[in-house]
Amino acid sequence: MSAKAQKLKYIEKLISQCQKCQLYKTATNHVPGFGNPEAEIVFIGEAPGYHEDQQGLPFVGNSGKLLDKLLAKIGLVRQDVFVCNILKHRPPNNRDPQPLEIKTCTPFLKAQLQIIRPKVIITLGRFAMNYFFPGEYISKIKGQIKKIDWNKLKLTIIPVYHPSAGLRNGAMLQALEQDFQTIGKFLGKI
Ligand code: SF4
Repeated sequence: MSAKAQKLKYIEKLISQCQKCQLYKTATNHVPGFGNPEAEIVFIGEAPGYHEDQQGLPFVGNSGKLLDKLLAKIGLVRQDVFVCNILKHRPPNNRDPQPLEIKTCTPFLKAQLQIIRPKVIITLGRFAMNYFFPGEYISKIKGQIKKIDWNKLKLTIIPVYHPSAGLRNGAMLQALEQDFQTIGKFLGKI
């Protein structure tokens, strides 16, 4: 196991034992994230949903199927990337994450990113976007290629809508597809 994989396993263990907010009480499993520890691209969503909570894996329900289709269109598979969420336990009934939960949980995300040291982050939905760009609106900055210095990492961040929004709304699906074309071109994949 690589050094990065070992360090990520340690963070997973901490997440599995975490009781810092109330969400662990109603969740079935913790969902730390999954993928390639050496990935140059990390996708960050909002929080586990029903299927993710059942399986302990990120993006395994319908949103995950759409994510896989969008990845395939730009020549990527899950094994190429790392996928995780802002929150590591499912909020009851898929309600929005609360500000205190985000504040309490995101040190785990920060630790994961500092281990993986990706070059590119794709934020899926407004909660992940707001973690890097507080106060911004996703409808305004989605699809933009943003370069930031963040905790000693030089990151390119491309915010896009959450796949679940694309499943609900045809216009948002079209926007997601367009923004994934931007991602593919930026990565030199298409
Ligand atoms: S959601 Fe995050 S902070 Fe809350 S219990 Fe789970 S791991 Fe801990």
